[in-house]
Amino acid sequence: MRSPLGSDPKVDLSQKFSLAEGVLGGGSFAQLRRGPAQRERVAHLLVLRDVRSVTRGGILADVDRIANELVEIVRRLHARNLAVGTGGNFSAVGDAGLVITASGVDKGTLTIDQLVVVDANGVVIEGNGKPSAETSIHLGLVARGARAVLHVHSVWNTLLSSNHTNELVITGFEMLKGLSGVTTHEHHERVPVIANSQDVPHLARQIERTITPSTHGVLVAGHGLTTWGASLAEAFRHVEIFEFLFEVVGRQQFGR
Ligand SMILES: [Zn+2]
Repeated sequence: MRSPLGSDPKVDLSQKFSLAEGVLGGGSFAQLRRGPAQRERVAHLLVLRDVRSVTRGGILADVDRIANELVEIVRRLHARNLAVGTGGNFSAVGDAGLVITASGVDKGTLTIDQLVVVDANGVVIEGNGKPSAETSIHLGLVARGARAVLHVHSVWNTLLSSNHTNELVITGFEMLKGLSGVTTHEHHERVPVIANSQDVPHLARQIERTITPSTHGVLVAGHGLTTWGASLAEAFRHVEIFEFLFEVVGRQQFGR
């Protein structure tokens, strides 16, 4: 029962994030879609390791695809009250870098222009706006093998995480099988619960310390859930499964 994390040795993202720094000069995704001439010019400036992505602005197409998928997923989460207001942050790995929501944007009306691409150090290499305040948490998880990281503030994860310290253990439910690698309701899903802090690098270190190869998600007390996956679809499924389980456990524990 292994999550996507931990099965791989640490990945050096500087090898994967292959855009030369500053090449794109902070233009928006919309600007990048202006025309083939511009795409070609930018593509020529790319420093690539993956030759398959060089041709015809392949990287730009990849970033656009990931960005569109991310917007769609955030809207679905918002529609289910899992990403209310400006709460939460969301990312997925593309060829050019990590595509992540900008800081402080309303998730119900999120557009592709409110995403940015950052390199392995969190430096914006494409897009306007400031990356999410919790970008370092995303980068830490990606360095351990995640391809998408989703962080949601929901009623049930806020209630349950406030009511537990150290960890929340969930077992006995068929829906556990929706978590990657889990094959039986008898599985014990151990969800670490760490104390909330406004010191994001501290939170990132705490998450790094608590997760194991079998961890699928982490709760920050009174704050929210961070989960991930080998793809955006898998990360989204993990949010759905966890939130279902949190509601079931919460209703049992709070008697309603
Ligand atoms: Zn948060």
